[in-house]
Amino acid sequence: MIRAAFPGSFDPPTFGHIDIIERSRSIFDELVVVIAENKQKQYLFSAKERLEMMSEMVKEWKNVSVTLCDTLIVELLKRQGIKIMVRGVRNVTDFSYESELSMMNKALSPGIETIFMTTRPEYLVLRSSSVRELAAFHGDLSALVPPLVAAALQAKF
Ligand code: ADP
Repeated sequence: MIRAAFPGSFDPPTFGHIDIIERSRSIFDELVVVIAENKQKQYLFSAKERLEMMSEMVKEWKNVSVTLCDTLIVELLKRQGIKIMVRGVRNVTDFSYESELSMMNKALSPGIETIFMTTRPEYLVLRSSSVRELAAFHGDLSALVPPLVAAALQAKF
């Protein structure tokens, strides 16, 4: 039984995240999507809103669950006995950041491995910050996020 976690801000969740979740859940027996709540960070959506949107998006997938985390991600993984962390990588900038982060996490928790999954080409330039920006200008979000997220963004702006 191999369990893995996919942590992120998901502010808001996008098709890029969903793609990584879908591909990871077919590799691992169980996938826990971890929504980070970092008190130092400013989010557009509250932790509860991000949890609700993500839960709705993955509700058909029985081996995927969603949880909130307001501590270090590796601490949550240790508590839950999860040894694999999945991260999505779009480009070399992501890889450079993600590889440093994985080394820091390795120093904190040697028992946890980070696995990188490259994005699908159609989601190469898709990031939550661009989605928020586009939403603020009332742009078309239909290729980037599911309708429930587009509606939530419209309500915010
Ligand atoms: P972002 O704000 O960049 O969308 P998050 O912290 O919410 O980032 O992302 C969580 C994880 O999902 C990270 O590992 C990030 O690299 C990955 N990710 C985000 N967007 C994509 C995408 N379009 N394709 C692949 N991975 C992605």
